[in-house]
Amino acid sequence: MSSKRYILKRRKDILTRDFIGNTPIRRCHYLSSQYNTNIFIKEEFHNPGMSSKDRPALFMIEEAIRNGKIKPGGTFVEASSGNTGYGLAMIAREMGYTSKIFVSKSCSLEKVEILKSVGAEVEICDNSNGLHDFYSTQFKAQSYAANNTNSYFTNQYYNSSNIKAHYRTTAPEIWNQMKGEVTHFIAGIGTGGTISGVGRFFKEKNINVKIWGVEPIGSILSHFLAHGTLPEEYKTLEPIEGIGRTFIPGSLDINSVDKIFQIGILDSESAAQEYKNKTGFLAGFSSAAIIATLKKHINDLALKPTDSIVLLFPDHGSRYLSKLYSKSNIVNEKSKINC
Ligand code: PMP
Repeated sequence: MSSKRYILKRRKDILTRDFIGNTPIRRCHYLSSQYNTNIFIKEEFHNPGMSSKDRPALFMIEEAIRNGKIKPGGTFVEASSGNTGYGLAMIAREMGYTSKIFVSKSCSLEKVEILKSVGAEVEICDNSNGLHDFYSTQFKAQSYAANNTNSYFTNQYYNSSNIKAHYRTTAPEIWNQMKGEVTHFIAGIGTGGTISGVGRFFKEKNINVKIWGVEPIGSILSHFLAHGTLPEEYKTLEPIEGIGRTFIPGSLDINSVDKIFQIGILDSESAAQEYKNKTGFLAGFSSAAIIATLKKHINDLALKPTDSIVLLFPDHGSRYLSKLYSKSNIVNEKSKINC
């Protein structure tokens, strides 16, 4: 059977491209009125694996099968903070493959449990010495795939299907939903796939759209974008799950990005609490980092009342109950407004 026919045969309804993607976008009244502009949120937690990473997971899996990199029944291997791992494990299982996911020990308990629940074999690793260290997720995933027959390392940091997934699905969806009226796009940067794919597509449509990234303090991408070099001194990377890098990923197209803002973990935590109290909505950690960035840098952003700013929320706060919300999980009903 040809690989294309195999993909089509194995795909169940849940895995069609109609089901992954086509997530809603909505105007956030709270943030729009707070900053006197028009702020929209692309809600990626409506994907079946509850994150934006279902998109690259599907593209990477299909590309590997199509090009004969893995045979039926093989094992997909990935190094992931959880969301790519979950998308990959879910899709792999549906298509008759197994998965082995290497996660960092900073990964939330919820994500590890969710991974196991879709049948992934999970190995916890130590990324404190960087992703090229012998004990890191990236290193272990690579060596596992090299030493186990019929296993394939999707390698999201260097896989061109990562950018392609967002260029072909996330970006045109947003563009159509907004009827081309987008002045700014803001996303957190982890592998860089989202911002690169969306940024590239938007710039082709309208070179004036501003593409802004968000990374935690200690990440090096804002320095690289501003100076074209790596920083001489490295700070400790503040752990905001899913974003922040101490190397330049191959899946980041820096030419598609206009500016990268840094934000701290404390600002992100308090933005998550404030947003929850005002809207009743639990933002994911990296989504809260975007909200915090707006608040912290608002005076430099020069947003106008006619602007249309799209924030990409990759996942939902329910994945971070223990890390973000369990300390104060009572919504202040009096200050709650619609969002
Ligand atoms: N936020 C979260 C929660 C993520 O899981 C990821 C993916 N690592 C990102 C943001 C960043 O997306 P990307 O890898 O496409 O840059």
